[in-house]
Amino acid sequence: MKRVIISGKEKAELSEVAIPKPTGNLVLVKIHVAPMCAEYKQFLEGVPRDCLGHEAAGEVVEVAEPGPVKVGDRVVAMPLDACGQCALCLSGDFIHCEENHMQDATMAQYVLKPAFMLKKIPDDVSYEKAALACCGLGASFGAMQNLNLTSFDTILITGLGPVGLGAVINARFRGTRVIAVESNEFRANLAKEMGAEAVIHPTDPDALKKIKELCGGIGPDCAIDCSGAIPAHRLCIDAVRRKGKIAFVGECHKETPLVISRDLIRKGIHLIGSWHYNLNEFPKLMRVIQTSPLVDKLVTHQFPMSQIEEAFSESALQMSGKILIKPWE
Ligand SMILES: [Zn+2]
Ligand SMILES: [Zn+2]
Repeated sequence: MKRVIISGKEKAELSEVAIPKPTGNLVLVKIHVAPMCAEYKQFLEGVPRDCLGHEAAGEVVEVAEPGPVKVGDRVVAMPLDACGQCALCLSGDFIHCEENHMQDATMAQYVLKPAFMLKKIPDDVSYEKAALACCGLGASFGAMQNLNLTSFDTILITGLGPVGLGAVINARFRGTRVIAVESNEFRANLAKEMGAEAVIHPTDPDALKKIKELCGGIGPDCAIDCSGAIPAHRLCIDAVRRKGKIAFVGECHKETPLVISRDLIRKGIHLIGSWHYNLNEFPKLMRVIQTSPLVDKLVTHQFPMSQIEEAFSESALQMSGKILIKPWE
């Protein structure tokens, strides 16, 4: 089978590897759609890699033992590789499993997944749309479930990459008012088309003031950071109203300074780390995908996997929403 590798700085190609063989609870999935996430960063860095991608929708083609899926099932493959047996996995929060490994390689024609991490796609949902149930719409969906976001709320969304744009769709599905922060004009405009009421530039010296003013002077009820940028963390903490809630979705491996009394105790705010969503809520996320008219706007590009270098270059330009790879084209 063919699999994407990064072979050098701004160089990507396909390599030929053996089709993996399922054993135990593992299932072989033929991948029809593999969305791109932040892999372009590795493409720009050029450190050679052969395990790329963690999002996929496809078809079950081989199982080793009877289980929750059978050959022919159309499925979304959840990211990573969890144990399936601990309390977190059993309750649907597999993403926080202590045994969860980064073993994915979905930019390929096949992938092996534990059966419990495959969720069946409703008949009326295409592979292209179903694949958005990974990072495209899944990450912010999980965050909004954690925030218990409703139509009474205003949400601040910082960072309008594909995850942040997905957050706009999820928020609008719930009837929530959206204010966003983003510097990229293409993405700011796309968010406005999706129904974001205002998009503020992060370097605007009056950004905080403007956000507060849009929320009766007291600030938004909730915020979700999809940027992973420390100044955006600060902005969310400063902007939300007292007793407000913030979900952090954008990855950041550096320290964000906090003053516990000023930022947390006196304001009474809740900070939530949110990575994916509870698997038991997959049907609700499918409802968003089946019924939101905005979902079509999220996918801006599709590339055959044979043009992987062009796809990475497009992704690196950041003039896109979600980019889908077709491994069999
Ligand atoms: Zn587990
Ligand atoms: Zn992703």
